[in-house]
Amino acid sequence: MPSSAAPLAPGAVIGILGNGQLGRMLCLAAARLGYRTHVYGPDRGSPAEQVASASTVAAYTDEAALAAFAAAVDVVTFEFENVPAQAAAFLASHAVVRPSWRALDVAQDRAKEKSFFAEIGARTPPWLPIDSLDELKAALATIRPPAILKTARLGYDGKGQAKIMRPADADKAWAAIGGGKSPSSVRPYAVLEGFVDFIREISVIAARGHDGTTVAFEPTENDHANHILSTSTVPAQISAETARAASDIATRAALALDLVGLLAVEMFVAADGSLLCNEMAPRPHNSGHWTMDGGGCDQFEMLVRAAAGLPLVPPARTVDVTMVNLIGDDINGLARYYADPLARVHLYGKAEARPGRKMGHVNVVRPHSRAGTT
Ligand code: AMP
Repeated sequence: MPSSAAPLAPGAVIGILGNGQLGRMLCLAAARLGYRTHVYGPDRGSPAEQVASASTVAAYTDEAALAAFAAAVDVVTFEFENVPAQAAAFLASHAVVRPSWRALDVAQDRAKEKSFFAEIGARTPPWLPIDSLDELKAALATIRPPAILKTARLGYDGKGQAKIMRPADADKAWAAIGGGKSPSSVRPYAVLEGFVDFIREISVIAARGHDGTTVAFEPTENDHANHILSTSTVPAQISAETARAASDIATRAALALDLVGLLAVEMFVAADGSLLCNEMAPRPHNSGHWTMDGGGCDQFEMLVRAAAGLPLVPPARTVDVTMVNLIGDDINGLARYYADPLARVHLYGKAEARPGRKMGHVNVVRPHSRAGTT
């Protein structure tokens, strides 16, 4: 499918694969710029469906539904990266798709992701591909515990991961990530990573426009609880040099993938300020939600601009922000945020507050401090 050079006119339809909260916030940003949205996903009553102009509820494998969706939209983008390869290929042959399949393909697989980081000259924790319990046991002689065993695909928020404190933990860890059951035909099934003694976790969201322009939001400092992102804060407490290096990695990655859209890269900061890349996602990212109230163009508008062929603008942060995720029952503690004039509440329209479920987030803003240097 040829990609159009002229920007989409207001009223055009942006198709979004996936209909969770990221899709919802993407729809809201698109609406601000006068675009209509059409979301596609398997779940009825989803966060995005509630605010989209149109919705298709169908499986990602339903080619008739995908064809009708492609015909109804002017461009397709994604709110998550685990789109089945076949669906992505099918859509690419029927519509303009931004970002293209390559970015999703790399980001779907931890082994491909780590090799890609090495290709662009970015470091990762030491790692080895693992396809069997024997391989795991052998690998533990090279990557000595503590280490983390992770499924190569479909892991998120700590799912599909097992920590290994001593070689004797190998059998338990392999079973814990489903290695004993028929592993998928995709190789490798898992990766073994050395445990990094980091001092902080940060992420950078870079964007690339259809004309090749790149911009990057400044690094955000991330804290996790129970493997789920808990807070993101800007500015991150890192040196200006580390901040530049982090932005540079995310921008290089976006360029190397030739993507049109967003790329979020998560990194560990070691005590000496050096950076180790953990993972990446070619879509809006939870750690970028602060941008919605940080001043300037936020991550969702940036993706809408990229997808629609509008110019990208550099981020222009005007305040410091801490983004607090509302997970599960946190949703019952909203009163204090509603009472706080500097807290902006964003809810995702999910009916049931299950443990671990992201129900919304709050951006608490403060006056702009000096640049985020220590
Ligand atoms: P992931 O699913 O890879 O993003 O991992 C979830 C979280 O587990 C990360 O945000 C870190 O807090 C922690 N983690 C993952 N990999 C490592 C590692 N190699 N060393 C130390 N902590 C890690």
